[in-house]
Amino acid sequence: FFLRGARVTSLAQGEWHHFVREGDTVVDATCGNGNDSKWLAEKIGPKGQLVAFDIQEDAIRSTSAVLEDEVDPELLPTVRFVHGCHSKLEEHVQAARFVCFNLGFLPGGDRSIISQPATSVAAVKAAMNILEPGGIISVLAYVGHPGGMEEYRAVQEMATQVHPQEFTVLEQRILNRPNSPVLIMLWRRP
Ligand code: SAM
Repeated sequence: FFLRGARVTSLAQGEWHHFVREGDTVVDATCGNGNDSKWLAEKIGPKGQLVAFDIQEDAIRSTSAVLEDEVDPELLPTVRFVHGCHSKLEEHVQAARFVCFNLGFLPGGDRSIISQPATSVAAVKAAMNILEPGGIISVLAYVGHPGGMEEYRAVQEMATQVHPQEFTVLEQRILNRPNSPVLIMLWRRP
C-alpha cells in the first residue's frame, strides 16, 4: 500500500495517514497543483482547517480549483491561502498538527522557480516552532534537478541536529531508484 506505484509521494501520504486526523489544523507549505491539499482536505474534513502556501499565484489558483472541483463542498475544511514564501509561516499560522513540504518546482509550470536551501531550512524551523505536541512535519526533497541535492543536504543537516528529546527525525528513500525523492519526517514528542 505505501509503495503503490513505487512513488515516494504515495509513501509519504501512507505515513501521513497515521497522524492526520479529522478536525486537525494542517499546513500545505508548497501547495503546487493541489494533490496534497486535496488529500489533506479529505482527511481533516469540515471541522478542520487547511492553510496552503505557495510562492506562485498559478499554484494557488490550481489548488483552489482542485479543492473546488474535486472535493465535496460539504466535506471541505476551512481553507486559507497564503501567496508567499513558506519561511514566513509563523506570521500566518499559530499552531498546527501537521505541516508538509513537497519541495522543488511546480510540475507543468515554470521550472526556474524552485524552493531554495536557505528558505526551506528556515521554513522547516518555523514549522517546528508552531507544531503541536504529537504533530508531524513531512519534507519531500527532490534530488534530481539542479540545486536539489544541495537543498536536501541542507534540510537533512539541520534535521540531524534537532534534539532527540524534542523531535524524532526519520528519513526514507527508495534505495534502488537513485533520483527518487527523500522523505524526512520530524515527529514532535508529546
Ligand atoms: N504539493 C504539490 C502538489 O501536491 O501538487 C506539489 C508541490 S511542487 C513539487 C513545489 C511547489 O513549491 C511549487 O508550486 C513552487 O511554486 C513552491 N515553492 C517553491 N518555493 C517556495 C517558497 N519559498 N514558498 C512557498 N512555496 C514555494
